[in-house]
Amino acid sequence: MERYTINDFNSQFPNDSACLEYLKNYLYSNGIYCKPCQKITPHSRLTKRMAYSCNRCGNHVYPMVGTIFEGSRTSLKHWFYAMFLMSATRCGISAKQLQRELGVTYKTAWRMFREIRTLMQISPQPMSGEVEIDDFYMGGKRPGKRGRGAEGKTPVLGIVQRKGRVAALATTDLKSSTVFPIVKEHVLSESMIYTDEYTTYDGLKKQGYAHKRVHHASKVWVVGNVHTNTIEGFWSLLKRGINGVYHAVSQKYLQNYVDEYAFRYNHRKDEQPMFLTILEKV
Ligand SMILES: [Zn+2]
Repeated sequence: MERYTINDFNSQFPNDSACLEYLKNYLYSNGIYCKPCQKITPHSRLTKRMAYSCNRCGNHVYPMVGTIFEGSRTSLKHWFYAMFLMSATRCGISAKQLQRELGVTYKTAWRMFREIRTLMQISPQPMSGEVEIDDFYMGGKRPGKRGRGAEGKTPVLGIVQRKGRVAALATTDLKSSTVFPIVKEHVLSESMIYTDEYTTYDGLKKQGYAHKRVHHASKVWVVGNVHTNTIEGFWSLLKRGINGVYHAVSQKYLQNYVDEYAFRYNHRKDEQPMFLTILEKV
């Protein structure tokens, strides 16, 4: 993929009008259906409102209604730019950086983040073939692996198909009874699952999976193609992104945050600029 640069962004979206036009064309790709006229009619942009008006009857249509942009005082171009920034680097940016870039308050930047992340949620798509599963702890000063210091943090279960997608899910705990239903939702049976020696993963075979593990406690990381390096790679992205940014947070909010990383990971090889993929979810 050609990289979609800041210059590309600025020439495609020079102002609010261009953003609104894009949004309108995306939402009404077959033309705007006018309710009073009861058919698709030509519409014209109103100069003083973020709206279009039916050329026949004058009825107004607001493309931002029903999207995350509805009722926001932040300009549409700022919203678009925030999405562009969130997708421009592998680790994303912080609310602090967004605040600086846009000249908005921290509160506004933070709220924009939260809204944009809702567009980046994962929809489960069954994985198959070779799949790695591992867990990670977030919240607190040091995110990281299980073990000492993990108390009070929120566990995240990571599932990745090699050369494919990742799903990362914040959970209440890592008991098998919690983990297995999540695995079943994301991984087709008969798949080959690789994990480490953690007892939670005992019994995956009984769930209908092929299962091989490496013994991390013995410092064994790779045996042939048995390893969890792919999911470890995802954890390191996550860890780098949250360093210095994060404090203890609720499971729900944490999920919102993890979704952003999973989204970037899952769309890293797309033909279409990631930023436009986010936009398509509005
Ligand atoms: Zn009309």
